[in-house]
Amino acid sequence: MPCGHQKRAIKHAMMRDCGRRCVYCAAPLEFDLATIDHVFPLAKGGIHTPGNLVAACGRCNRLKGDLLPTEFFARYPWAGLNFITYARAVHRALKRCARRAVSLAYARAA
Ligand SMILES: [Zn+2]
Repeated sequence: MPCGHQKRAIKHAMMRDCGRRCVYCAAPLEFDLATIDHVFPLAKGGIHTPGNLVAACGRCNRLKGDLLPTEFFARYPWAGLNFITYARAVHRALKRCARRAVSLAYARAA
């Protein structure tokens, strides 16, 4: 496991990549209140690599919980739209799955 110093460094990098906003609700993030979210949850086999990490506010992190990104974006398409905009450094496969989940969700709602 990374030590505290590494954790802070990772968090700084994540926040910079995400434009210092929560990638799900786009709220501006303060360092101490920001959390690191595993887009593909560790509990479901996700890994701890930069392409799977984003900065998120505590509220969105709790809302997402252990949902798969497809489940989360299907349920909250607005989070998917923000994710596509702000999660710039995330793996492209995750962005692809976000775009698909969002367009499906809006197609169902129309
Ligand atoms: Zn948020």
